[in-house]
Amino acid sequence: MKTIGLIGGMSWESTSLYYEIINKVVSEKLGGLHSAKIILYSVDFAEIEELQRKGQWSKSAEILADIAMKLERAGADFILISTNTMHKVADQVQEKINIPILHIAEATAKELKENKIGKVLLLGTKYTMTEDFYKGKLEAEGIDVVVPNEEDIEIVNEIIFSELCLGKINEKSREKYINIINSSKKKGVQGVILGCTEIGLLIKQKDLELPVFDTTIIHCQQAANYAIMK
Ligand code: GLU
Repeated sequence: MKTIGLIGGMSWESTSLYYEIINKVVSEKLGGLHSAKIILYSVDFAEIEELQRKGQWSKSAEILADIAMKLERAGADFILISTNTMHKVADQVQEKINIPILHIAEATAKELKENKIGKVLLLGTKYTMTEDFYKGKLEAEGIDVVVPNEEDIEIVNEIIFSELCLGKINEKSREKYINIINSSKKKGVQGVILGCTEIGLLIKQKDLELPVFDTTIIHCQQAANYAIMK
């Protein structure tokens, strides 16, 4: 079994899901007492979030690359970065290591294609929704990406940082997300990407008619499958 080098803590609320889901998939697939081999390096998210806000992406790239090198030296066979947003610096991290990064947007694109989804709503942080590093990966696979309007981008982003990353689940925020998702139906989307690893804490498939693609679950399933692949 391959060892997963997990760069987590962004936020720890979702990293704890990674630990649980990866282990559950490995246990289901291999049975018995099998569990995943994981080396976790969990950051102080306050430091990373401050760099995001200040636009200091090259500094955060250095921090994550340094962690990835440590995980490689510790015996990791591949790297998972358990946040969509920080994939903005995935290429800079990849340059510094000799093991692959299992990219969350590529994993998501694969899942969408398997489900024959050609047009999708993307929810995530404002960085993920407005910049190209994430949408570009989906568009390269021929998937049309729709994002909310400016006002709704602010609402979705604010709820992520001031509630979900702190583990706060608020019924009113759930309603807001559901309304934003449902209003996108008129744009012809065939599904919604929960493109932030904490959104699954708030929104589940049962809340919606549109098919839900939760990047936390997708990333973990593909990581677990890759880890146990012969
Ligand atoms: N976990 C979130 C994501 O998937 C947001 C936290 C962050 O900014 O890294 O994008």
